[in-house]
Amino acid sequence: MKAYTYIEHGKFELLDKPKPELGDSRDAIVRVTLGSICTSDLHIKHGSVPRAVPGVTVGHEMVGVVEQTGPDVTTVKPGDRVTVNVETFCGECFFCKRGYVNNCTDPDGGWALGCRIDGGQAEYVRIPHADQGLDRIPDTVSDEQALFVGDILATGFWAARISEIKTGDTVLIIGAGPTGICTLLCVMLRSPKRIIVCEKSPERARFVREHYPDVLVTEPERCRDFILHNSDHGGADVVLEVAGADDTFKLAWECARPNATVTVVALYDRPQMLPLPDMYGKNLIFKTGGVDGCDCAEILRLIEQGRIDTTPLITHRYPLSQIEEAYHIFENRLDGVIKVAIKGRG
Ligand SMILES: [Zn+2]
Ligand SMILES: [Zn+2]
Repeated sequence: MKAYTYIEHGKFELLDKPKPELGDSRDAIVRVTLGSICTSDLHIKHGSVPRAVPGVTVGHEMVGVVEQTGPDVTTVKPGDRVTVNVETFCGECFFCKRGYVNNCTDPDGGWALGCRIDGGQAEYVRIPHADQGLDRIPDTVSDEQALFVGDILATGFWAARISEIKTGDTVLIIGAGPTGICTLLCVMLRSPKRIIVCEKSPERARFVREHYPDVLVTEPERCRDFILHNSDHGGADVVLEVAGADDTFKLAWECARPNATVTVVALYDRPQMLPLPDMYGKNLIFKTGGVDGCDCAEILRLIEQGRIDTTPLITHRYPLSQIEEAYHIFENRLDGVIKVAIKGRG
């Protein structure tokens, strides 16, 4: 089968590899029908994920059809259409039992797919702990509707959940990339009084204005003033930092009102300053990133009910054989791209 593979620093290549086989009684083999490219794939390509193993098949955003299951898999069966969770987790350890599945202590726990073990930019993928890692897609939900459930939508859902948003709140979201928009959709479900999105790129700001006309949009340079004029208590009640740029962490806590919650979803390239003397007396609550992706079944229900729709994010579509071209467009942000869908085996 074809598998897009991390060869070495700076180099991915579409190789021929053997089809994966069951290795454990809890594994499943999934035929990938639709996949995508995530910014984390680019992080692997450019060497900023040291635990990524050369030779591994990349890709951790995908949906597919179960081909085969081990004898201990109980929640899915061959023929089921499923979403694949970016995180592998056992469901049984101290952290899993408390919902902190990102910190699962299993040897394959955490983000393993497409990083430490073969992922889904391929025709088939082996999913360990399939009872936890796969969720059945309702018949009325299409592959494109379900494509982001296991990764960026799980992240947005988790971020909105831990931010404890209340109906009277002014919520600031910094960054309107794919994860920022998924976060926005999940914040909207919680019906705060006001949502403000801060985005540097005029193209992405326009996307938010067009698709979500009730959301206020500002840019980093004007953000502090904008928040002051559009909040009730001198700053946002909740800030979600999804941009991960050089100065967006500072912007996040500066735009927060005293006693606000600041949720950091972003993954930074560099350490960030936490200047405690400057924020003394502001009594902020910080929550930090690393999605606990265990709400996929609930997210699928919300999609089925028409309450979440991420399909506008899919701006480009390619077959697996043209994945090189898809990376080129995604990596260089050409042609107004937000997300690409990679068509696997039908
Ligand atoms: Zn990802
Ligand atoms: Zn666990």
